[in-house]
Amino acid sequence: MLDRCCVVLVPAPFQGHITPMLQLGSILQSRGFSILVAHSEYNAPETSNHPSFSFLALPDEVAELDKSFENMGNVLEAININCKAPLKDCLVRMMENEELHGQVACIIYDTVMKFVDAVAVSLKLPSMVMRPNTAAYVRAHHTLFDLQAENCLPLSESQMEENVPNFHPFKFKDMPHPLSLEIPEKVIDFFKNTYAIGSSRAIIWNTMDELEPHHLSKLQQDFNVPFFCVGPFHKMAPPCKTSLLNEDDYCMEWLDKQAPNSVLYVSLGSIAGMDEKEVMETAWGLINSGQPFLWVIRDIFVNGAKSNSQLPDGFEEIIGEKGCLVKWAPQMKVLKHSAVGGFWSHCGWNSTLESICEGVPMICRPDFADQFINSRYVTHVWNIGLEMECPLDRGRVEETVRRLMVDEEGKELRNRTIDMKHRFHESVEKGGSSYQSLNQLAEFIFNI
Ligand code: UDP
Repeated sequence: MLDRCCVVLVPAPFQGHITPMLQLGSILQSRGFSILVAHSEYNAPETSNHPSFSFLALPDEVAELDKSFENMGNVLEAININCKAPLKDCLVRMMENEELHGQVACIIYDTVMKFVDAVAVSLKLPSMVMRPNTAAYVRAHHTLFDLQAENCLPLSESQMEENVPNFHPFKFKDMPHPLSLEIPEKVIDFFKNTYAIGSSRAIIWNTMDELEPHHLSKLQQDFNVPFFCVGPFHKMAPPCKTSLLNEDDYCMEWLDKQAPNSVLYVSLGSIAGMDEKEVMETAWGLINSGQPFLWVIRDIFVNGAKSNSQLPDGFEEIIGEKGCLVKWAPQMKVLKHSAVGGFWSHCGWNSTLESICEGVPMICRPDFADQFINSRYVTHVWNIGLEMECPLDRGRVEETVRRLMVDEEGKELRNRTIDMKHRFHESVEKGGSSYQSLNQLAEFIFNI
């Protein structure tokens, strides 16, 4: 690391946040920076996958806390409190010992790791925020803030179906939090905190300038710092493994035996799940569609269950040989495989980018946070996917799967996805917008 500028990265401890941060680390390393990843002990990245990075585990004292989805806000709050002093102490030691670590150029942190801002300010170190979502999602926060300021919350169920004024084509039901429910003050504060960028000198986005120019320029007026859109990160970065769970490679052998474009890949990412009834209806719908499928059922997938021993009775018998079940897939390899013709996704932003980059059209079933915005983009703006409507039943699943995988409509969706894939690839190639933005980012960090 001697003589190199060191960038300190502070990821948030969730798969969909760790992945882009580690990818950003690889991108910056390829531009000559050394990388130190300061991470919480909870959901720590697998250090052996990144032998050229340095890692620092920050004691977070959350081992005993409930890690259910409902309690994640409290876990995050504890991490923000408990990791502050360890990060500061470590950076002080690094700066006293520069010959070991190189000069610290800046700290780049995930937008939910708010404690970093105070540490950076107290040490007079420049910082930048990394946003792992779209610009449209960040703008959607304003809807929440405005409705709250005008005392209009909660909305009625029928209002949820209406379009948000001046925010085409998004509906109230696509906003960051269900607006028809009471929203505790604490939750509003959380959104306000993650929207703000404190003393950050710039924002790094996992999106592209040409993908959402309007939303980016509106936000630019708000934040008034340089934006660097260097996405899709996974195409800018040398490939790196970022999974927190073990990838089951068996499914690749299974895919090798399937016909081209025949398989529907079903995965709801690292957090979203289904209830028992939805699991069974999905299973029957997939089977009745007649298409082979590869379905990721994580160890905790059924909402409210503590493990998969609580999968519905008879589930595995129904699936039999008709589909391949895995606990965690090597998703990027799966989406690249020629047998995969569609992706039923919860529309996490990483999954959405990965699907587009391999030209795989989607069935969208968003669950929370930015997934509704991403889904709306896929189905109503880019026209590269179908919405899986609620409530889930076997007839609807069968019909939607066949529309995507068999019908002419599906072919058109695939062709549009492939067009988009080409545009994404152009943006990361020499002369493309993300490529240029990365050059500017590297220069910005060197001169900061
Ligand atoms: N992923 C994976 N294997 C799986 C499911 C997901 O490797 O079986 C990866 C996927 O490639 C993506 C990440 O996990 O990079 C999930 O991030 P995303 O933003 O899509 O969703 P989240 O998990 O944050 O809801």
